[in-house]
Amino acid sequence: MTATTFNLERLIRANVAQLKPYSSARDEFKDFHEDMVFLDANENPFENGVNRYPDPQQLTLKQHLSSLKRVPVDQILLGNGSDEVLDLLFRAFCEPKQDNVITLPPTYGMYGVLAATNDIANREVLLSEDFQPQVAKILDQADHQTKMLFLCSPNNPTANSFKADAIEVLLQNFKGLVVVDEAYIDFSPEESWTTKLQQYPNLVVTQTLSKAYGLAGIRLGICYASAAIISILNKIKPPYNVNELTQKRALERVLDDEKVQGEISTILKERDVLSKVLLQVNFVKKVYPSEANFILAKVDDANKRYDQLIKKGIVVRNRSTQALCENTLRFTVGTTTENEKLITALKELV
Ligand SMILES: *Cc1c(COP(=O)(O)O)cnc(C)c1O
Repeated sequence: MTATTFNLERLIRANVAQLKPYSSARDEFKDFHEDMVFLDANENPFENGVNRYPDPQQLTLKQHLSSLKRVPVDQILLGNGSDEVLDLLFRAFCEPKQDNVITLPPTYGMYGVLAATNDIANREVLLSEDFQPQVAKILDQADHQTKMLFLCSPNNPTANSFKADAIEVLLQNFKGLVVVDEAYIDFSPEESWTTKLQQYPNLVVTQTLSKAYGLAGIRLGICYASAAIISILNKIKPPYNVNELTQKRALERVLDDEKVQGEISTILKERDVLSKVLLQVNFVKKVYPSEANFILAKVDDANKRYDQLIKKGIVVRNRSTQALCENTLRFTVGTTTENEKLITALKELV
């Protein structure tokens, strides 16, 4: 799809198109020098590190993410986890009771939850047996009110990436926004879709610091899209959605990317060991290939094995209720010690 055939204006909710962004006190004077006297925001003036409101545009953090991920600052929006970013997309583009989105089960549960909370119909098109998008069926389900398509790649819980040519065909033919959720991209050999942002004006890529970057507790989600899409999301985001402590911790971590990359390669080695050893467990029927930091495995009786593991003090995720995932368990890759405990426990089960 080219910039001329894609019509962003058509996708925006009418009330959002008319909105003027809330201008916070700190927004208006951010370019002024540091020793100005700020008596504008009713803050407590005694310094304790966090007595001032945080930067609503998170500029320092964005500048570092921009050079690390090679995406311009005006094409980045940060949120309180990717969950907030995804919710902002719904609220900007989907008219309650009227519009719809397409999701591809088995996949991340939040897309359906957010569709339901925003009163948006969720059209589900199952993945194929080998967990790939069924492109023709997806395009067939789309109509004028279909505002977004969610592609989770690598996909949770199946752990595989979607084929690049399938995603490309969807980007070229789907008339709404194509949201590629790359929560697990740092564990995958695939290139990020951020490299295609200039080519596809309907592409939105989301990432998070919750998985590979090890910061689930601070809640930092990232959205990359055209500057036009980002400015729409900026209009509706709560002004101080990313708190000061989060901005600081995220920045420290992004500046220490070497350490992050070291942890990722350790997790990948552990994942490959765990995949092999899981196959030796007598009730494990299949271990699916993984491009993420977890492994999906088919077992003889997932409910039974899940309960047995709980009794041994090990919590995994039972994915059996998901489409195409009957009798599957999802194992997050832990430390060597944790993975060994898991394997020992599995081998003791009868
Ligand atoms: C874990 C996960 C996320 C992360 O969400 P945060 O709100 O950023 O913690 C996003 N998408 C998928 C598919 C996930 O599995």
